[in-house]
Amino acid sequence: MSNQAYSFFQSVERSFDKAAKFTKLDKGLLEQIKACNSIYSMRFPVKMDDGRIEVIEAYRVQHSHHKTPCKGGIRFSIEVNQDEVMALAALMTYKCAIVNVPFGGGKGGIKIDPRKYSTYELEKITRRYTAELVKKNFIGPGTDVPAPDYGTGEREMAWIVDTYQSLKPGEIDAAGCVTGKPITQGGVRGRKEATGLGVFFGVREVCSMPDVMERLGLSVGIEGKTIVVQGLGNVGYHSAKYFREAGAKVVAIAEYEGAIYNAEGLNEEEVFQHRKKTGSILNFPGATNIANSKEALELACDILIPAALENVINHENADRVKAKIIGEAANGPLTPEADEILAAKKVLVIPDMYLNAGGVTVSYFEWLKNLSHVRYGRMEKRFTENLNGHILGQIEELTGKKVSEKERGFIMHGPEEVDLVHSGLEESMISATREIMDIWRSNPEIPDMRTAAYVNAINKVGTSYAELGIFP
Ligand code: GLU
Repeated sequence: MSNQAYSFFQSVERSFDKAAKFTKLDKGLLEQIKACNSIYSMRFPVKMDDGRIEVIEAYRVQHSHHKTPCKGGIRFSIEVNQDEVMALAALMTYKCAIVNVPFGGGKGGIKIDPRKYSTYELEKITRRYTAELVKKNFIGPGTDVPAPDYGTGEREMAWIVDTYQSLKPGEIDAAGCVTGKPITQGGVRGRKEATGLGVFFGVREVCSMPDVMERLGLSVGIEGKTIVVQGLGNVGYHSAKYFREAGAKVVAIAEYEGAIYNAEGLNEEEVFQHRKKTGSILNFPGATNIANSKEALELACDILIPAALENVINHENADRVKAKIIGEAANGPLTPEADEILAAKKVLVIPDMYLNAGGVTVSYFEWLKNLSHVRYGRMEKRFTENLNGHILGQIEELTGKKVSEKERGFIMHGPEEVDLVHSGLEESMISATREIMDIWRSNPEIPDMRTAAYVNAINKVGTSYAELGIFP
């Protein structure tokens, strides 16, 4: 952003360079990994409800083609600019590599404040944007697959898939042109909560590591930890939910109009309903108001979860942050300056490009579902239940004892789609956390977890480019 020393893309490049030193890759190859491969900047007219014509500014960036399709969300925000979309696309490349999702990174953005448009206007903008992508071959199940991001959700994804399908009649895998769709349009169960749940799985894994917790002066485990969440959108809401359900206390929630604090813990669903009813997060029963939302980032807590926009923790406020762990649920919430200040204060920053990878991981599952044209669990659920029933029957007969009804339900249960998606996500987040921590532990020169994550990503993308060979 303009008041920062570096643009967002430059700050991603800086983090990349910091990590590249710890790899053995060729200099030219490193340059290729870093660069954005294709940038599509577009302007198109849309007729508004009052008859006015507005020229819309929009982008789609494909950062890396070392694997195809490219993958990454589309954001609707007045802050959108080419540099931001480039940075976010680059983060997608590294994110996918870390969680072993076989995609290149991409990102799209439309420079609008979605709250200022009617639903019909938003639909026209989204459909026209999709048509522009089709025209230039910037969308398709095998080329580039968008998804929700800041300011977009299932509704927009449904418009995108519908527009794509109408322009590409008969394309058998067309549903895989976008992810994050409603279930009725080819979406997968578990996608909506995926990013928040992934954040929870990642932080839980870090908190289960005795050496890491000891260094921070914290006890092992999530239970009893105090959490501050910035942003009550899809990611913030679900992160808060899973932390609360695991026995942590969400002591503060911040939104742009202000923040609320309650040492006894807040229930995200009640806060969400309150905000929906009153139009503001403030004045929630039993909580203290914090008029300046930014101050919530400086509250004493064990874990701070910034789940809104980029650059919210920077050279101005980083020194006042009191959290012991920062879990970057948003993309790029810390500036490089903030990173350095926090590293010096021994705050553990769990980096965005892997911690918020739950969304794209489940998007990958959705894309696979679309290509295979069958719901997860459909083939094995009944078979598993029959088999489990048989095993249980045998055990009961041989022992002469019966298990409780609750246990019976648990043992018998064959996997539903949502069970498989959640377990695939859990596995991906746990292995990614362990891989990054092992890299960090193995080299004491690596200054922070973000650098260790980058080392992991750069090595994976580099290997893949090297094996691909460079086209002569
Ligand atoms: N927008 C999300 C992200 O930044 C999800 C991307 C996707 O599912 O492709 O990771």
